[in-house]
Amino acid sequence: MDDAPQISEADEQALLDSIDRWLTRKVAPIAAKYEQADEYPTELVEDMCEMGLFGALIEPQYGGLGLPATAYARIVARISEEWMSLTGFFNSHLMMALIVQKFGTPAQKDHWLPRFATGELRGGLALTEPDAGTDLQGIRTVARREGDIYRVSGSKLWITNAIEGDILAVLVKTDPDAQPRHRGMTMLIVPTRDKETGAEAPGVSRGGKLPKLGYRGIDTGGISFDGAPVDARLGLVGGEEGKGFLMATGGLEIGRVNVAARGVGIARRALKEAVAYAQIRQTMGRPIAQHQAIQLKLGEMAAKTRAAELLVEDAARAYDRGGRVDLEAGMAKWFATETAFEVATESMRIHGAYGYSKEYPIERLYRDAPLLMIGEGTNEMQRIIIARQLIARNPV
Ligand SMILES: Cc1cc2nc3c(=O)[nH]c(=O)nc-3n(C[C@H](O)[C@H](O)[C@H](O)COP(=O)(O)OP(=O)(O)OC[C@H]3O[C@@H](n4cnc5c(N)ncnc54)[C@H](O)[C@@H]3O)c2cc1C
Repeated sequence: MDDAPQISEADEQALLDSIDRWLTRKVAPIAAKYEQADEYPTELVEDMCEMGLFGALIEPQYGGLGLPATAYARIVARISEEWMSLTGFFNSHLMMALIVQKFGTPAQKDHWLPRFATGELRGGLALTEPDAGTDLQGIRTVARREGDIYRVSGSKLWITNAIEGDILAVLVKTDPDAQPRHRGMTMLIVPTRDKETGAEAPGVSRGGKLPKLGYRGIDTGGISFDGAPVDARLGLVGGEEGKGFLMATGGLEIGRVNVAARGVGIARRALKEAVAYAQIRQTMGRPIAQHQAIQLKLGEMAAKTRAAELLVEDAARAYDRGGRVDLEAGMAKWFATETAFEVATESMRIHGAYGYSKEYPIERLYRDAPLLMIGEGTNEMQRIIIARQLIARNPV
């Protein structure tokens, strides 16, 4: 498509090179420390704002980088090779921003997008609740209109950027009795804290950061609303009730490309570490890389990692062409994330006891990978989505 986002090869390379330098100089020396302490990496988040990553997919007219999904996926994969959590800060934020960019009114775009592009306001997408994840239409958070405002009540759980962020795109029910259920669902932009004072916005209570197996450092948490007021003109996305489910599932497509790209980053790093370690570690008088049992593992890890890279490229290209990409994004998400877990596990076996040690990066890759099989639609659901699309695109 002519109006699809574009970047020249030279500009993309320059951007990737600057991110690589940042990863080497600033991230690599401290990632393990922050990850093990589960500490919010304030300085690195600020660096990512300065590099424009919080505006990576926001159009240049609103101050964003306006990158195509292909370039975005390459950036996400590179950062994930060093520390996957960092990609979560800006990806959740961009899912919220893209909902405004794609479905918002002109006034909403003018108001929110420049603030989102710089990271002045940071946030995420709040869909999941204590009793509803995969079954999004089962959410219970409601919003009732009172003149020019909505009052939001309910609880969201497992929300990225919920604690340190300032704002969320929140999926609510404006008509809890609607049938089919999705017709009663609406997307609202809800400020959650005062940027200046750091205080919670009226009617908002942030829970604590949830302790997690991996994907640490980032603030994943619960957030509750008790009559939280939302200005209807700026907050009701697109100025229309009943379209929230469509907006949420549309936002998840780029989320799936992102998660798949994270899988590529994890698989690549785990493979690199295994290839290097296998040449250094000796048993029976020779490097383990010369044992056929290890070669069989490395061969399979390399082929699967490359296949994952190509599927992610394919999905990102499809996204850039426009239209629905559930099939392509679903294939990339499922394959790349299963591959990430398999390759991390095999790399750990190749490292023997050292793979189990906190002094090596393998145990972190191994703990980070499983999230990718759950987030942005579980891998069980991805295969179902792929099959449904396959049938829809090939009717008999
Ligand atoms: C670290 C982390 C960060 C997250 N960040 C966010 C965020 O920022 N925003 C947000 O909204 N959510 C977020 N989530 C939530 C995530 O999107 C959900 O966990 C996910 O959608 C699955 O929902 P669930 O956990 O309720 O599992 P459930 O829906 O309860 O599913 C449980 C199991 O049943 C299977 N299953 C369910 N329904 C079906 C079906 N119809 N057919 C076949 N199998 C089925 C699932 O695949 C899964 O294996 C995050 C989660 C984690 C762990």
